[in-house]
Amino acid sequence: MEESIRKAVELIRASKHATAFTGAGISVESGIPTFRGDNGFWSRYDPMTLDIDYFKANPLKSWKVIKEIFYDYFEYSKPNEAHIALAELEDRGFIKQLITQNIDNLHQAAGSKKVVEFHGSSHKLVCLDCHKRIKPSETVLNNLPVKCDSCGGLLKPDFIFFGEDIPRQAFLDSMEAARKSDLMLVVGTSGEVVPASQIPLLAKQTGAKIIEINVQHTQYTEEITDLFLEGKASEILKKIVDGLNA
Ligand code: NAD
Ligand code: ZN
Repeated sequence: MEESIRKAVELIRASKHATAFTGAGISVESGIPTFRGDNGFWSRYDPMTLDIDYFKANPLKSWKVIKEIFYDYFEYSKPNEAHIALAELEDRGFIKQLITQNIDNLHQAAGSKKVVEFHGSSHKLVCLDCHKRIKPSETVLNNLPVKCDSCGGLLKPDFIFFGEDIPRQAFLDSMEAARKSDLMLVVGTSGEVVPASQIPLLAKQTGAKIIEINVQHTQYTEEITDLFLEGKASEILKKIVDGLNA
């Protein structure tokens, strides 16, 4: 076993309250691009689409792009080995809580149960007027902009847009999980999106060790990471699961 994987396995075995914090990088191998970077969504689409005021003023324009990005793309993506490995680590009691910045539902699809969705989820739509939530079926999405069948209000995906606050319960649950952590696996996140990026910092400040898994160094690597595992999330997490089995 590689030395770095052996160390990770040791840290996980020694932990009592390990958590995981994931970002867009963990879903790249499921075919979902990140927002930024050369192949990111923002190289093809205008981020204004996800600005709450722009959305309210231009619902049809926004919805056309939102449908393409979040429903045509996400609909066909499946969890990859990394999501599956984290679900297995939870199932075997090694991970107590998972906090994700992703909105793609792939952790739940892989079988993770204790998931906090810090930015909400694309798997529900919420009415801006009566706050009713519905599932985004194909029929619903064929009639843009999507309207509420109860009150006629505008429906938006139930994840946060630029200019909106973090869902309160998700925020509180994440902070609590960070404080409780004695080990945090930070996977596929650049640490550039505030306030989500504070979660590993809080965990570190309150005594957690940090294992970081990423294809490249990030904001965290020099500042708080105790063990950096360089590589694709799927490959590294699979090695960790194998290491725990050995
Ligand atoms: P980010 O785009 O800022 O950073 C992605 C990180 O993943 C980078 O550090 C990159 O080096 C790393 N990475 C890329 N491929 C990887 C791989 N195969 N294995 C491991 N690491 C890999 O993402 P972020 O920090 O999550 O912030 C972006 C924001 O955009 C988040 O708020 C997130 O909600 C949202 N977003 C979500 C999705 C999704 O739900 N899948 C997709 C795009 C953006
Ligand atoms: Zn309504």
